[in-house]
Amino acid sequence: MDIKKQYINGQWVEAISGNTRDIINPYNQEVIAVVADGNAQDSEKAIAAAREAFDQGDWPNTPATERAKIVKKIADLIDRDQEELAKLESLDTGKTLEESRWDMEDIAGVFRYYAELADKDGGEIINSPIPNSISKVVKEPVGVCGQITPWNYPLLQASWKLAPALVTGNTLIIKPSEITPLTHIKIFELIEESGVPKGVANLVLGPGNTVGAELSSHKNVDLISFTGGIETGKTIMQAASHNMKKIALELGGKNPNVIFADANLEVAIDQALNAVYFHAGQICSAGTRIIVEESIHDTFVDALTQRVKKIKLGNGFDETTQMGPLISEEHLKKVERYVEKGIKEGATVAVGGKRPDDAELQNGFFYLPTILTNCTTDMSVVQDEAFGPVITVEKFKTEEEAIKLANDSIYGLSGGVWTKDIVKAERCVAKMRMGTVWINDFNIYFPHAPWGGYKQSGIGRELGGMGLEEYQETKHIFHNLKPETMNWF
Ligand code: NAD
Repeated sequence: MDIKKQYINGQWVEAISGNTRDIINPYNQEVIAVVADGNAQDSEKAIAAAREAFDQGDWPNTPATERAKIVKKIADLIDRDQEELAKLESLDTGKTLEESRWDMEDIAGVFRYYAELADKDGGEIINSPIPNSISKVVKEPVGVCGQITPWNYPLLQASWKLAPALVTGNTLIIKPSEITPLTHIKIFELIEESGVPKGVANLVLGPGNTVGAELSSHKNVDLISFTGGIETGKTIMQAASHNMKKIALELGGKNPNVIFADANLEVAIDQALNAVYFHAGQICSAGTRIIVEESIHDTFVDALTQRVKKIKLGNGFDETTQMGPLISEEHLKKVERYVEKGIKEGATVAVGGKRPDDAELQNGFFYLPTILTNCTTDMSVVQDEAFGPVITVEKFKTEEEAIKLANDSIYGLSGGVWTKDIVKAERCVAKMRMGTVWINDFNIYFPHAPWGGYKQSGIGRELGGMGLEEYQETKHIFHNLKPETMNWF
């Protein structure tokens, strides 16, 4: 197999060490690609290229309209190669091809949204209190940006970082998860084709503790944007403090889905499944904590269980497959340990709770969609992020109790409330400490709305206007039109 390469300073290059890494299909463990496996030296080289492109190149001063045209071209190229990108994403992550196709549509939409937003993003004249002066506020790029993405939505997470960084005139180095680099590599072919100048956008491949650590600690990187787990987030925050980098952290979640007895149950049940089992639950905003009113608990759990039993596991490329495998053997074992611990703590398995028996699935990293009942907030299964197809169910009697349970978490990424009583719904969401809350829905997001977490789910926001501002510095320019002496000293 040809070695898939890094993209540094406009060149496709192997790792300086010459090392490579096999990329595995999580459905059957077949090697689907061999990629360059860089280390800190490769990061260093990419940082130098991005620094030079920022300090000496034209990109930061290219008119926003011109940059927007290039970013829009990337969107068009994604549309053109959508099927190839979707197939690569499904091969690499195991998710169904249909899900990957939705992702690619979203990704093109993110590039298009930011191209339009940045094109309209002018400075602002403010009312100066000083006579004979002009006071204006302008936005400028931050500089060299390090970007680190996770394996669950590789290209989608990358698009939330690449599009706003490019369109605002920054230069960047992105590092995908070492186990899912394929769509990052492909999009860099499109970035090259779109006409982004050399050195502006760089791709480095390899492990987090070398390639990623260098990006987050290096003095020539001005901003680090990270999506991934909470512990890695803490390490990156510390590393970034060496030169006081701007930081944006999109971390994990343990997201409550609160179901009141007066909800439209047919829809609530259907959407509770969607909230968790897409991509086998490997979604930061998965609604894995079902908090249901006691009077409907049994009916709700029974209906959910019946539906879960019918979920078809398999190859993401088979059109009848509804859920693919987990990403890796290591992650599968983590989910198993998480469920075992929950059972020891007193949870009951309503369905699932183990690997499937089907012969066809034995070579993949499959885990059955699972529901655990009799859960309480003091259990680790309720507090820890499983990042797998596992629902925990808690009960409540009153609205106050429901909110108290929903907020009882170190995380604050997202949550949902289901009720036909709109006043009650508004009352609840006003008290829920999360970056996104849905009323009578779950896991809806679009580029126009900000995404990010309260509490330990992160710092800063991606998407929306705030996602653009993360990549901008704000400068106040005061111009005295009639300079005069003061003769104070
Ligand atoms: P992870 O933290 O293990 O890895 C994420 C990235 O960080 C990878 O590219 C990895 O190589 C890199 N990394 C690891 N150690 C590093 C270090 N010391 N320095 C720099 N980089 C390092 O996370 P993961 O397992 O890939 O992804 C799953 C996690 O991501 C979950 O917790 C999930 O909730 C979170 N996530 C959050 C969002 C969000 O929008 N909030 C979206 C997707 C995923």
